[in-house]
Amino acid sequence: MPSSPESGSFRLDHASLKAWLLELDPESLQALWAEADRVRRTCVGDAVHLRGLIEVSSHCVRHCLYCGLRAPSAGLERYRMEAGEILACAHEAVRLGYGSVVLQGGEDPGLTQAFIADVVRAIKQETPLAVTLSLGERSDADLLAWRRAGADRFLLRFETSDPVLYRRIHPDLPGIPSDRFAQLRRMRDMGYEIGTGVMVGIPGQTWDTLAADLLRFRELDMDMIGIGPFLPSPRTPLGGAGASTFQAPPEQQVPNDELTTLKAVALTRLACPDANIPSTTALATLDRAQGRELALLRGANVVMPNVTPLPFRALYEIYPGKACLTETPATCQGCLENRLRSIGRTMAKGPGGRKSTLCKDSVPCDFHH
Ligand code: SAH
Repeated sequence: MPSSPESGSFRLDHASLKAWLLELDPESLQALWAEADRVRRTCVGDAVHLRGLIEVSSHCVRHCLYCGLRAPSAGLERYRMEAGEILACAHEAVRLGYGSVVLQGGEDPGLTQAFIADVVRAIKQETPLAVTLSLGERSDADLLAWRRAGADRFLLRFETSDPVLYRRIHPDLPGIPSDRFAQLRRMRDMGYEIGTGVMVGIPGQTWDTLAADLLRFRELDMDMIGIGPFLPSPRTPLGGAGASTFQAPPEQQVPNDELTTLKAVALTRLACPDANIPSTTALATLDRAQGRELALLRGANVVMPNVTPLPFRALYEIYPGKACLTETPATCQGCLENRLRSIGRTMAKGPGGRKSTLCKDSVPCDFHH
């Protein structure tokens, strides 16, 4: 873990991070964008890693106040993909030149230990893909079985580092306290590459909380860090009529806007120089014209194009109006290639794990850990 919280002339202690998050001066922000882009280029290079996202199940036992897939969401048609359907998506990802797939879903006990282990084993046997799981909070027995079956990585956002806000927006299952930090540590010990992240602008999230989130990424030495704006879903308490009651006082409440999200992405790049940082779908949803590109120009180096079959994709409604809802995987790939070319970036080949990044040895780098 890095000892001094600085990047070049950028101080990265709590007060400085908070000040940067609040910064509005265009010249200062230009300097932040330029530094984040420089560190990104030096430490992880120009190639953008593409992870094919497979939304394997929309069933969920949780009652998270932010997510449209929450168990109480009425009138939502639920699905769970079959093993053959998931494998077909993985093969499609290979055809499109992607180096890894992410199997994401609600917290769904119907995705049994054996089912996921078999799917992971088959993907690893039949393709060269790295496999990332993003299936919520699961037992150590499940996580170990999946690791043994060949899963390489696990994404579990801690959502917010404020324990009081976390408990409010992410209620425990009866009798089982939720501790995502503990699960992240255990997964690291099991040999997974670990990803986490937060939403920007959750009702009740203050500037101090978000600054603390960014410091937490650094302390945890995360391999992957996803940051997207909170997008209200009318199916949820945080997106419904009473949502304003959850807000922090106006001078403290973080807005769920593009500028704040981009600042959080840029500061995360400075704090975690060699992490893999995606340009998130939530940001692309907020700014369809150039959200993807702006994040890639301000620190991000990963995109997760959706390879879920269209009928399922529409049902995986975490929030409404998701970007790229109607594009086939092939169209999506073409669109991305154009977008990357327009900003002078290339599609990476291969699985794109953190350890293969430039920062470690091949390029002299002043951000060495
Ligand atoms: N069930 C898994 C996967 C959840 S979806 C899990 O809980 O880890 C992945 C991420 O989408 C979540 O971690 C959350 O940060 C984000 N998300 C959920 N609801 C959202 C919303 N309304 N707006 C923006 N992002 C949201």
